[in-house]
Amino acid sequence: MDTKQFLAETDQEILDAKKSILSVKDINSLNDFKGKYLGKKSHLTGYYDSMRQVPIAEKKEFGMLLNKLKVALNTLFLDKEKELNDEALNQRLNKEAIDITLPGYHKNLGSKNPFFAVVDDITDFFIGLGYSVADGPEVESDLNNFELMNIPKDHPARDMQDSFSISPDTVLRSHTSCVQARVMKAMGGKGPVKVICPGKVYRRDNDATHSHQFGQIEGLVISKDVTFSNLLETLTLLLKHLFGEKREVRFRPSFFPFTEPSVEADISCFECNGKGCSLCKHTGWIEILGSGMVHPNVLRLNGYDDKVYQGFAFGIGIDRVAMLKYGIDDIKRFYTDDVDFLQQFRKE
Ligand SMILES: [Zn+2]
Repeated sequence: MDTKQFLAETDQEILDAKKSILSVKDINSLNDFKGKYLGKKSHLTGYYDSMRQVPIAEKKEFGMLLNKLKVALNTLFLDKEKELNDEALNQRLNKEAIDITLPGYHKNLGSKNPFFAVVDDITDFFIGLGYSVADGPEVESDLNNFELMNIPKDHPARDMQDSFSISPDTVLRSHTSCVQARVMKAMGGKGPVKVICPGKVYRRDNDATHSHQFGQIEGLVISKDVTFSNLLETLTLLLKHLFGEKREVRFRPSFFPFTEPSVEADISCFECNGKGCSLCKHTGWIEILGSGMVHPNVLRLNGYDDKVYQGFAFGIGIDRVAMLKYGIDDIKRFYTDDVDFLQQFRKE
């Protein structure tokens, strides 16, 4: 075959293909086209195979013609493939068009239990001050819950926290201080600590402001130079954050077995601004939390050298803060899953 004849043949092949592609209407017939003109049994492949027999002098021209044929067939195929894909996409888009006349779906938005709103608020506040958050089990050893908190077995302070015993050595934790014991143990008596421990605690209590289950957030800071002033400043910042900048904060001496000295913090009553009302029991002040410098015994019992390290600790009742902030009259409302109650706290 000379080049002239080959040119005629390839031109004819291109013409055939152009005709053939007109009848391609879907992917199946496109595949047939591909098999026929570009596949193993196509003329194209046959021409490539026969290139070996073409004399060297004509190889270049044959090669160019063959390449022209290949490009032409490939282009036909690719153009058609794109056309079919575009068509399919358009069809799908038309089918899936949004009917804006349909009414929208109604989403039932839940609301955050005010208990957890307070947990999140206080946690965010302390994370902002560089604290980390520690967690621990609610079924706790007597050792962690009491003894390592400077409350030995015969100590009268145990009466302040009438607890649920699981066994002689296991209790439902009566405060989250046991998490502090776990944190100090993990530190091995070395290095600073700056944590808060939010969680549920259990005591044998039952009236409008007390429940067998309630929430606490305790904080613990230990370092070589932390002072009582740091404690007062931290708690003042916290209480103003929770109850507003206008609140006055007052500290009263108190007693806790795990701190020495111990103080309780009050805020000026936000209901009567200190004049006296039923909320503040006509004192003008509302008790909020207990705190103090970590008792040297607690430091020693938990592996810290009390001559080198000191610290402060505080505990806040989550339910109490939520009740005061949101004017809730009964602590059990947090735990009864009453939708009517919860919906009042929905943020629209
Ligand atoms: Zn008042």
